[in-house]
Amino acid sequence: MIARVTLEIALRKEFDYFIPPELEEQVDVGSRVQVPFGSRKVLGCVTGLAEESAHATLKPILKVIGAQTLVTPKILKLARWIGEYYCCAPETALKSVLPEAVRHEQANWRERLHVRALPVTGELPKLPKRQKEVWRILEGRPELPLSELLALANTTAATVRRLEDRGLVSVAAEISERDPYAREHILPTQPLPLNPAQAKALAAIKAAMEGSPKAEGRSSKTEVRSPKSEIRSAAGPEAQGWMFDVGCSMLDVGVSPPAAPPPSLPAPHSSTFLLHGVTGSGKTEVYLQAIAHALEQGKGAIVLVPEISLTPQTVERFKARFSSGRLQTLVAVLHSHLSSGERHDEWHKIRQGRARIAIGARSAIFAPVEPLGLVIVDEEHEHSYKQEEAPRYHARDVAIVRGQMEGAVVVLGSATPSLESYYNCGKGKYTLLQLPERADDKKMPVVRIVDMRQTARPGKAIPIFSPQLKEAIAQRVERKEQVILFLNRRGYSTSLQCPLCGFVAECPNCSVSLTYHRQEQKLCCHICSHVAPVPSVCPNEKCRNPAIRYSGLGTQKVEATLVKLFPEARIVRMDSDVLKRKEDYRRILGDFRVGKIDILVGTQMIAKGLHFPNVTLVGIIYADLALHQPDFRAGERTFQLLTQVAGRAGRGDIEGEVFVQAFTPFHPAIQFARRHDFEGFYEQEMEFREQLKYPPVGRIALLTLKGRNEEKVRFSADYLKHELEKAVGNVKDLVIVGPAPAPLLRAETYYRYQIMLRAQRMAALSQRLALLIRSLTLPEDVTLAVDIDPVDLM
Ligand code: ADP
Ligand code: ZN
Repeated sequence: MIARVTLEIALRKEFDYFIPPELEEQVDVGSRVQVPFGSRKVLGCVTGLAEESAHATLKPILKVIGAQTLVTPKILKLARWIGEYYCCAPETALKSVLPEAVRHEQANWRERLHVRALPVTGELPKLPKRQKEVWRILEGRPELPLSELLALANTTAATVRRLEDRGLVSVAAEISERDPYAREHILPTQPLPLNPAQAKALAAIKAAMEGSPKAEGRSSKTEVRSPKSEIRSAAGPEAQGWMFDVGCSMLDVGVSPPAAPPPSLPAPHSSTFLLHGVTGSGKTEVYLQAIAHALEQGKGAIVLVPEISLTPQTVERFKARFSSGRLQTLVAVLHSHLSSGERHDEWHKIRQGRARIAIGARSAIFAPVEPLGLVIVDEEHEHSYKQEEAPRYHARDVAIVRGQMEGAVVVLGSATPSLESYYNCGKGKYTLLQLPERADDKKMPVVRIVDMRQTARPGKAIPIFSPQLKEAIAQRVERKEQVILFLNRRGYSTSLQCPLCGFVAECPNCSVSLTYHRQEQKLCCHICSHVAPVPSVCPNEKCRNPAIRYSGLGTQKVEATLVKLFPEARIVRMDSDVLKRKEDYRRILGDFRVGKIDILVGTQMIAKGLHFPNVTLVGIIYADLALHQPDFRAGERTFQLLTQVAGRAGRGDIEGEVFVQAFTPFHPAIQFARRHDFEGFYEQEMEFREQLKYPPVGRIALLTLKGRNEEKVRFSADYLKHELEKAVGNVKDLVIVGPAPAPLLRAETYYRYQIMLRAQRMAALSQRLALLIRSLTLPEDVTLAVDIDPVDLM
């Protein structure tokens, strides 16, 4: 037999290898293998099997990694779709579907020595005191890890070895699973009685789950066979069928479904839901009960949450419902903060089918849950679902495609849905479910907008705190209630300028100014992390002015000012400068929860999902910060952020209050957020998107060229535009914008130029783009990044 292998090195093709007889049993589609390539050994994934090869002499596969095929046929199919839709090489797409720890077998199961008491025949021999103590422990627990036994008996391994010599115990290495949450004491929870809106939402989701195909027997034989033959019959590795096969019509607004949809795929609108519920409306409870239903059907579930809200608090809610009590299902967590050993174990628990629920950030969408009944994408509007390096996939969109492929129901949840998802509800592609009120009868907080222009006094700097906000903080400190202050910018001052000669401290690698970090006494670039000393006089040779001026503010300055204003309050800042170790986040939130902190100052890190009943005031220091960015989503982002941050207030018995300080207080994004009016915002914003045919009305692809030589980059961009006109110019309604310098022209020493493509549909466009890119020759030191459905336009 011959194996077709996609190698991890960027070659965009498959290679044939001979399967040696001794490996025949182990090699299957989806196996990870090591093969010779030239003089090297490289890793790859078997993407097909064949009887014969066009090549006469084939080299053998050297080694198979892992006891099971690591990439299941379903995930392989998903990876192919990603490669095609997002215009990236198959090996790049394949790489992203396995965690590093599993892919490279960097980690393996941890083996620990276990001691087991053996049956005693006849009289127990007389034992010395220490051995006897050990034996007594073993009488109570006939098997336990050696280290634990030694700790209990307070003795050394030699004692146990003597018992082994006597034939009383056996000592052997056994797999001992790592459990990253072993030290948590999680109390089981019971399903809550749902309020009418929740009940209605759950009923709709359950009905769709009933409609989807029942779980088949979990015999791996049948599952492996059919896709294998499918791959064999496909016309080569780059069979074009995939794009249509998976019904990208879901993502592709306006594409009519394929003439004869594959029978296994349910009608799209019945299987994807958008659960739009205000903050605190009980969306999580709906997720939990829907997952319970999937388990009852013999299926598993994937829960995606943004990395930033993958807090112990979130994980606990899922573990508490499922990992103890009646259901006793393992919940595996895939998290970048785990050690590679923990990640290895968590992933394999899913692959072996022991964990039926996978919870994690973006890449957890590739968790090999099988059969898959349900995918939850919480905070579906979050931009962190988009991967900003190849493959540039959007986990929410991959979730929808995977759901369709595997007949699973997909639930997108948010208090501030993305315009894309809401639009798809309007088009009948998703079903909208609404939870208009907070679940626990708490009122939505009162939001007050403060016009910061009123605080300006001639000759004086604009204060950080308006008198209204200052007064409100003082009240809370007095009443021992808690305050959250939000500013989405770290550091102390955002720029350093000489008032005499105009010198500005800029990053030598990027086109941005350096931020002053007072605590660390350094200037720092927030793009490339370049660090420079703080000058005591103007660095300009001809100037040397000792009075340099700092302007703009960051979280450090907010903190420092608070300390002066409220010396008696306990103030803690939380941003990525403070959080150096993974325990820090936990510790600070823990302290805040138990009331050891009065005021928490932070960046977007504190905007999401936190639930603290004693927080009665939230202050947003500078709400327009994100509004003035050169990005058509600036308004949407501001609306989302304000709504989310405001949602942190009033989660307890006392009503919450939110102060939003802004210099453009009448901007619609701010006004609609004040009224908690998503629909209003949506309608107003859609007018603008409609006019310019921006998403969700049209679709865009962003091509970015970068290189160290600006001339070459510009020249390459012109050449690319020319080639694009030839290759995709006749795609219906296509608009090519640019080339133009990227809003951030220079980043990390590279100059960047962009071309934006706008079209009605994406599928046809991305196919042609892929072809063009393959034949394109660019100067060696200029690279091209293709971003389909981009999120970051900078
Ligand atoms: P969301 O996920 O929409 O932000 P949560 O699921 O965190 O909302 O719910 C907010 C609070 O309401 C939680 O304390 C939760 O336990 C409670 N809650 C949710 N559903 C119910 C219900 N049906 N009855 C009573 N309390 C509920
Ligand atoms: Zn820089």
